[in-house]
Amino acid sequence: MKINISQVRRMTGETARYDLKEEFSPFEFGMETISFLSPLHVQLQVHNTGKLLIAHGTIEAELKAVCGRCLEEFSYPLHLDFEDEWVYASQATEEQQENALIFDKDEIELRERIMEHIVLALPMKFVCSPDCQGLCPECGANLNLGVCSCSKETLDPRLAELAKLAKLTLDD
Ligand SMILES: [Zn+2]
Ligand SMILES: [Zn+2]
Repeated sequence: MKINISQVRRMTGETARYDLKEEFSPFEFGMETISFLSPLHVQLQVHNTGKLLIAHGTIEAELKAVCGRCLEEFSYPLHLDFEDEWVYASQATEEQQENALIFDKDEIELRERIMEHIVLALPMKFVCSPDCQGLCPECGANLNLGVCSCSKETLDPRLAELAKLAKLTLDD
């Protein structure tokens, strides 16, 4: 995902716009491999303040994620806005060296930076829907698809409490 900034970086006050679409390869996130179901769509507005370039961008994509509750794959719509400082290598301060995107020619490769923004925006745990019922802790049935036979059994409420406690200890 490359852009050319030769125009905007030479003129203070200049703004350039970019509309980019590109396939991104799957990436590791925690224990999971996450892939993209659609090309990544990035819209950028790059403004030259005289000292540096400020990039405002939006990223849109569909991710293939696994629900942390029911373990089903689902499509996770990603939409995020970001703001970035881009600085020419020879003008970067120490702080900018750490936080800004440093470039040294007219062409900028954005892929790595975009991936950083995506990873930062991802949830700790993917859930297919706020209403996801997850799996039955007894038989492992996907409760979104219907009630399993476990929950139909009538358990003495005190025993049920004990069973729950025992399960909590086991889970730890
Ligand atoms: Zn789910
Ligand atoms: Zn069950």
